[in-house]
Amino acid sequence: MRKQIGYRGLFVIFSILMVEFLIPAGRAEAQGLGYNVVLCLRYEVDYQDADGGDWWNTSDDKTARGIRALVQRNSDSADVFYGYTNASTGCTPTLTFNVGQTYLVRLYSEATVANSNLIRVLFSDILPWRYFRTVASSFNPGSPGTYYFTMDDWDTQNIPQTAAAAGYAVHNRYGGMSGETYILYNQACSPGGPSCLNSDTGELYFNDFGKRHKFIIAHEVGHAVGYKRDEGESPDGSGYGATSTQCSEWPPNINHDFASKEWQGAAVSEGFAHFYAATVWNDPSESDCSFYYYKPVDFFPARWVAGYGSKL
Ligand SMILES: [Zn+2]
Repeated sequence: MRKQIGYRGLFVIFSILMVEFLIPAGRAEAQGLGYNVVLCLRYEVDYQDADGGDWWNTSDDKTARGIRALVQRNSDSADVFYGYTNASTGCTPTLTFNVGQTYLVRLYSEATVANSNLIRVLFSDILPWRYFRTVASSFNPGSPGTYYFTMDDWDTQNIPQTAAAAGYAVHNRYGGMSGETYILYNQACSPGGPSCLNSDTGELYFNDFGKRHKFIIAHEVGHAVGYKRDEGESPDGSGYGATSTQCSEWPPNINHDFASKEWQGAAVSEGFAHFYAATVWNDPSESDCSFYYYKPVDFFPARWVAGYGSKL
């Protein structure tokens, strides 16, 4: 009797050892079963001046250069990736997705582009929060490969296309600087006001009209690049108060227009921003240059062409 109990005891102990021995091996094998997956990310855009210049002549989705992305395994909320994608391709590194698991994919309104320059599109200066968009809540690739997701204009606020144009501009025309942060608020300068640079902070403000025009977005980014290159200064005497009796004969009594005359500082600021926008949206290897502006571009009334698509 004692001998039988002894055998049973040994069997139980042996069984426990087998289980203990096999479980870690089984877990290791399960973790090893995965797919190599790359996620490449894009922005939805719909510019009203898409046909201007050499780049982005259509409103097809654009590469989300360096966008911050989160990839999270749903079963345990483990982060598979939380960082910036490649500044040129908008793709993640190769990630391992476990077989049979689902994943959340979320994109944020911030991106690191060339020379570690950071673009952040934020809610407002009072509530300086970034936006995020969950582009997949239970993604299961099913096989290895490259998969594409687009940050769409989910709330009709034009956040993706604002980030797209600003990121493209700074990525290609960073003005020799690195490690700079560009803040873009989804907020007009003042209620009902225009898009602008805050000359005290160097931060950018965009109204709805501005967010719909790639030349305006690049123009404002140009102001910020100039501000940073000038170490936080704007040109002296940059008031926009020149009147018809002081300068312009036509159009009358306007300022801050392409065709109006300005005091020197204002003219330098606006001239540089327009130049910057022109360099962003034109191929420098070509001799022509397209510049699309939403206001008159010529001083003379006979050539005053109002509306979109004015071209210089
Ligand atoms: Zn300007």
